[in-house]
Amino acid sequence: MRVFSTPEPLKKYISDNRGNGKEIGLVPTMGALHQGHLQLISKSIQDNSVTVSSIYVNPTQFNNQTDLKNYPRDLGQDILKLKKSGCQAAFCPSDEVMYPQKPLTTLNFDSLEEVMEGAYRPGHFQGVALAVSKLFHFIQPDRAYFGQKDWQQLVIIRQLVNDLGFAIDIVGVPTLREADGLAMSSRNQRLNHNQRTVASELYRAISLVKMKLEKLVGVDEARQMGVDYLRKFSSIHVEYLEVVHSTTLKQPMAELGSEPLSVCIAGLIGDIRLIDNVQVFQTD
Ligand code: AMP
Repeated sequence: MRVFSTPEPLKKYISDNRGNGKEIGLVPTMGALHQGHLQLISKSIQDNSVTVSSIYVNPTQFNNQTDLKNYPRDLGQDILKLKKSGCQAAFCPSDEVMYPQKPLTTLNFDSLEEVMEGAYRPGHFQGVALAVSKLFHFIQPDRAYFGQKDWQQLVIIRQLVNDLGFAIDIVGVPTLREADGLAMSSRNQRLNHNQRTVASELYRAISLVKMKLEKLVGVDEARQMGVDYLRKFSSIHVEYLEVVHSTTLKQPMAELGSEPLSVCIAGLIGDIRLIDNVQVFQTD
């Protein structure tokens, strides 16, 4: 596996490969790799001749400096995992490489970022969009892979690609979970034993809301049942539990069952912030 830390040799590697008619897949990550990430990589390996995975903890998407400082990092282990995965190239830039000057460009996503993660983490998606746009420019992949675990991010990246005309197919990959339902996340490794035990209740709560929606219990009532369920767990502080239209992220308007919905949650367990979602009434 080739490991690059600057864009120029990476661009040359990509153009040499593309010259041979190969298709390029990109899997952007912030490292501390787990099976969820590896699932994206293996999907890319299936679809493309060359898979590039980026590892970069992007400071511009953190609105909380303590969260940035505490974010798990283990580049050595990540490289080993990538090598084992069959990924052909890793791009691991420094902050100086990604942002040689303080960036002044901002990308706004209007109603898509006024809710949920965008509301609780002001500027988060602007940071994500800037870093992802740079990766798209450097690598110009045919396909890029994003987890449904970060549903709002996936919706926003699709919007970014449409708005800026990137010729990149965005592939959304279902959320990989632990046996008790907890969505795999780099942040899970910061949970202590008791926190880890309670963490899967986030998934249980949104699954309860999903089940109620499928039984055509009204949106507000179903949502409230999820909120009430989590009240039993004093160590979980729910930031939001929302039922939104899956692509507009707006409040559901139509008759239940006639539009795709997403049940999204963010919760703090101690100082560890976890997010998750489940999809309801999806047509494909
Ligand atoms: P991150 O390193 O957390 O920025 O995640 C990198 C990519 O992996 C994002 O597209 C995430 O949505 C995706 N991802 C993270 N966890 C999971 C998971 N449990 N299942 C599927 N995709 C995931």
